[in-house]
Amino acid sequence: MESILKKYFGYSCFRPYQKEVIEKIMEGRDSLVVMATGSGKSLCYQVPPLLVHKTAVVVSPLISLMQDQVMALKQRGIKAEYLGSTQTDPTVLTKSENGLFDLLFMTPERACSIPVSFWSKLLKAGICLFAVDEAHCISEWGHNFRVEYKQLDKLRGILLNVPFVGLTATATEKVRIDIVSSLKMKDPYVPIGSFDRKNLFYGVKRIDRGLPFIEELVQEILKFVGSGGSTIIYCTTIKDVDQIFKSLQDTGIKAGIYHGQMGSKAREESHRLFIRDEVPVMVATVAFGMGIDKPNIRQVIHYGCPKSLESYYQESGRCGRDGIASVCWLYYTRADFAKADFYCGESQNENHRRAIVESLMLAQQYCVLTTCRRKFLLEHFGETFSADKCGNCDNCMVSKRELDMSREAFLLMACILSCRGNWGLNMPIDILRGSRSKKILDAQFDKLPLHGLGKDKSSNWWKALANQLISNGYLVETIKDIYRTVSVSSKGEKYLCSASPDHQPPLVLPLTSEMVD
Ligand code: ADP
Ligand code: ZN
Repeated sequence: MESILKKYFGYSCFRPYQKEVIEKIMEGRDSLVVMATGSGKSLCYQVPPLLVHKTAVVVSPLISLMQDQVMALKQRGIKAEYLGSTQTDPTVLTKSENGLFDLLFMTPERACSIPVSFWSKLLKAGICLFAVDEAHCISEWGHNFRVEYKQLDKLRGILLNVPFVGLTATATEKVRIDIVSSLKMKDPYVPIGSFDRKNLFYGVKRIDRGLPFIEELVQEILKFVGSGGSTIIYCTTIKDVDQIFKSLQDTGIKAGIYHGQMGSKAREESHRLFIRDEVPVMVATVAFGMGIDKPNIRQVIHYGCPKSLESYYQESGRCGRDGIASVCWLYYTRADFAKADFYCGESQNENHRRAIVESLMLAQQYCVLTTCRRKFLLEHFGETFSADKCGNCDNCMVSKRELDMSREAFLLMACILSCRGNWGLNMPIDILRGSRSKKILDAQFDKLPLHGLGKDKSSNWWKALANQLISNGYLVETIKDIYRTVSVSSKGEKYLCSASPDHQPPLVLPLTSEMVD
């Protein structure tokens, strides 16, 4: 194994889990490899075919991605090819079924539609593994659900005794369970690597759209342009892509542009300019960058709240692949938080809609988080991060003025408890602010002793406090039907038990910008 690693890849030792996965594959065991972007998952399916001289079949979602991989492998002297609509060599199919390639890439559509006779022939020649790259595409809980991936289970009945290997950088348990059951994996080996990308700084800013923001953005980008690093700016809409692209051009910064409505020629050209460092900045929708392996991306900026933490972590994780310090900024506006319906519009399926709303809620919690962002992200992916501060995110680095907010926290929690967990944040805040809206009168909430006790603060102030209490675990948000509701956690209840209307134990929280505004 080590000599193959040295001979073909030039590396002298394996990274964590690579060797173990390869050994399991050689034993014929199914595996699901869950490791962060850039940790070296591909090697797990690249080495076995070189060891046993049988073909590794790799399913991958995008032709451009397969082309890049095939090219890189060929340069290392490995026999690799892909099957897809853009394949111009007519002999590839016959060569494939005769087992002449070490690695054979194909899209899921192709894998499911290819005749059984192809598989029978290739099985005779020898298949050492069937790999499904970006395996989270199989799951509706993943951030990139693709219907075609669901049909891969058909191949289980054809490729008897061939080990299946799923690979993904998305680590939530729901997604893992989905992958294992969709691919009908039997007793799979599931190594889960650490997701901590220590060299990445995480930060979030609330902004108002418009010129002042664009000017600030340009300053941020300029910091990196001189040092040879590049930047990706992800926008949520094509309109934003166009606007930012134009503003950058106006200030003389060379940028590439990339989104789904451009023709494939134009997209390829943009992609190439960026990869070859001919433009230092790429302004794009999330259509850009899946599988991109460019080492010197120093910065990923999100302009607009992403639709899930999974997609945020994957997109922001495209910087700093070389291990050098890099930054991930997320800029959001309050208006971003009203997008649930927009994303749900794509789906009729109730479960899928719930998944969308829940994912969006977590992404929004990340935006307004007041505690360590790395801890929040890692814990979302099921990893324990024992420290309270990482020292490399905005919340850990900026020391904020702190204040005792025990009275306000008490009022808000007590009010939420009085509403019995059936509402979002607006209702308890309206009650505290003494609103006499029809909803409040109908529910007789104006009779609550708390009604009107929080008039002195704006509703944005109360929302900012609620975000702090959510970040610190006193309140929890959940989805009921497809609506967000807020309730008091057991930690919050403990606090309430130790307090009374006249006396509350201290609860010191940082003063956020939302509270000062
Ligand atoms: P992933 O698929 O997990 O995002 P890749 O397989 O693309 O990651 O690997 C990321 C980078 O790490 C690649 O440039 C790859 O060549 C390199 N790499 C992989 N394994 C090793 C190793 N054992 N030693 C050194 N570099 C490695
Ligand atoms: Zn931190």
